[in-house]
Amino acid sequence: MAGSGKFFVGGNWKCNGTKESISKLVSDINSAKLESDVDVIVAPPFVYIDQVKNSLSDRVEIAAQNCWTGKGGAFTGEISAEQIYDLGCSWVVLGHSERRHIIGEDNEFIGKKAAYALSQTLGVIACIGELLEEREAGKTFDVCYQQLKAFADAVPGWDKIVIAYEPVWAIGTGKVATPDQAQEVHVAVRDWLSKNVSAEVASKTRIIYGGSVNGSNCGELAKQEDIDGFLVGGASLKGPEFATIVNSVT
Ligand code: PGA
Repeated sequence: MAGSGKFFVGGNWKCNGTKESISKLVSDINSAKLESDVDVIVAPPFVYIDQVKNSLSDRVEIAAQNCWTGKGGAFTGEISAEQIYDLGCSWVVLGHSERRHIIGEDNEFIGKKAAYALSQTLGVIACIGELLEEREAGKTFDVCYQQLKAFADAVPGWDKIVIAYEPVWAIGTGKVATPDQAQEVHVAVRDWLSKNVSAEVASKTRIIYGGSVNGSNCGELAKQEDIDGFLVGGASLKGPEFATIVNSVT
């Protein structure tokens, strides 16, 4: 743990669940013992946020998985940061690789969303990470730096931003980054912040890792100095395993 603040574990439920399965997941999370010294966040699909808000313990905060770039209005199918806040969410996940690479969101578009979400007092889980071919071509740092720069160029401050390093090749593949691979990029991200934003932001910002984190590999990853938490996909759909990951910092 190098960033200041608590260890931070987010569960990204992606486009999964039904009213029934989500009710079970919420009740499993409610009955799990979660270390008090960890910020715990879940990101349900938009349509279930209200259900989750009304049934999940206040111990766990709620994030949206995306938001629009600005104020609401005539933007069919979009959800504004104001609406997300209105539902009782305190965070939004932005720049997730599935939105970058499947939906086609680019750095500038994501930067706009981040700036607007922050202006509406939401915290931002800002995702970055390289594709397998970019890693193999030795471009991991360049790609991450460009993605970081887009956030840095857009946002007024870093107080409410958590950076999630999620190598795309590790997401949903069962191929987790080794603790050394993750630590290496986390150090590089902190270094970039130090040189391009400020030493203070570099030391305070939490940098969390995502990509095939599960109940078995979280302990080794959590020991790395610069891993300040996790963003968890698949394993966050199982309440007891998610709790194990939340508690991995101890
Ligand atoms: P995964 O997803 O844990 O299923 O690899 C992580 C993420 O996409 O945030």
